[in-house]
Amino acid sequence: MTTIVPPPTRNVVFTRVEICPEARAAAERVLASGWVTTGPEVLAFEEEFAAEVGARHAVAVSSCTAAIEIALRTFDLAPGDRVLTSAMTFCGVAHAIRRAGGEPVLVDIDPVTLMPSAETTAAAARRVGGVSAMVVLHFAGNPAPVAELAEAAGLPLSRVIEDAAHGPGLAVGDRPVGSISAATCFSFYATKNLPLGEGGMLTTDDGAVAEAARSLRLHGMSRDAWRRYEPGSSWRYAVDHHGLKANMTDVQAAIGRAQLCRFPGWQERRHELAERYHRGLAGIPGIITPRAPDHGRHAWHLYVIRLTPELGVGRDELIAALADQGVHCSVHFIPLHHHGFWAAERPVEADVATHLPLVEAVFPTIVSLPFYPALSDDDADHVCESIARIAARSSVAEPLAVTPSRRS
Ligand SMILES: *Cc1c(COP(=O)(O)O)cnc(C)c1O
Repeated sequence: MTTIVPPPTRNVVFTRVEICPEARAAAERVLASGWVTTGPEVLAFEEEFAAEVGARHAVAVSSCTAAIEIALRTFDLAPGDRVLTSAMTFCGVAHAIRRAGGEPVLVDIDPVTLMPSAETTAAAARRVGGVSAMVVLHFAGNPAPVAELAEAAGLPLSRVIEDAAHGPGLAVGDRPVGSISAATCFSFYATKNLPLGEGGMLTTDDGAVAEAARSLRLHGMSRDAWRRYEPGSSWRYAVDHHGLKANMTDVQAAIGRAQLCRFPGWQERRHELAERYHRGLAGIPGIITPRAPDHGRHAWHLYVIRLTPELGVGRDELIAALADQGVHCSVHFIPLHHHGFWAAERPVEADVATHLPLVEAVFPTIVSLPFYPALSDDDADHVCESIARIAARSSVAEPLAVTPSRRS
């Protein structure tokens, strides 16, 4: 007999984007201005963002994925050149490597930080007989030791880029992310710490990288081609590179400038919520909470817990039981080689999974909890209490109430 599960009294969504009133007003102002694509708002946003992360140059683009492709294109990879990436990252990173002419080489992770360590990086580089470049991931907002990883890969920092999609607000040691490697790539996707809806930014201290990126983001046209419709400007432009169509619009940039003003407050709230989760989950057997690094500053983009067998329920079971209590979780990330495309493509090597034992062991144990500045204290507490309840129930070996086969 099946019993109807009563609807949960609370609904804690996984993510909710906040677009502040100033951003909405700014978007309206630009929409009414007569110029809506790349223009003065983008230039101002680039300057303000560069200052925020302490980089000399910032180039606004359509996404972090585009920023990664553009950054790698400035390396002029030869076809098939090997590029290291975490095996547990977003699929767009591998696609960007391939589109830039490289071949992704998947790196195993450290089971605590959930991103490549110096050891796993060195092992991957050795395995394929050396690499041409590397994309360093700062997983969940946790700073990765960029210089140490570059050394482990046998690469100078000028052949390393950073995926800082989780990253505005993080610091590696005492250095804000943005100018450490050849290019740092940020995402303004709707779920990220600085949400615009869509958008990305490439930052660098290298003037040549910045100049190439400015051209590559707009069809490879000569610099400032976007000005060609301004009064007094020439209609002429030159196409010097095989570029992308990946520019940012002034509407996005105006939203971004206003959102940037809210950013410090949002980051503060993320740190508060992380502390609240640490406290609320401490002592639940079978739950390992993420840790802030000893050095540097965590940006707290995601709150990823790990489960041990002591919990008594598996990852998928926990996610289903939480959904029954109105708590909606996610998983970051499905490993690249688990996706049909990258499994079929066998990045560089056959049987790549055999080189990724920690990814294989850890992936089935991770859960990303609801985590965003608008999450209330009450909702965060409800998440912790729900997990505690499920853990307590499983420890007395009661069948777990999971829709639709709950027992009465
Ligand atoms: C979101 C994300 C990206 C892609 O960002 P877009 O702006 O959507 O292209 C890349 N890497 C990681 C780790 C991400 O989480």
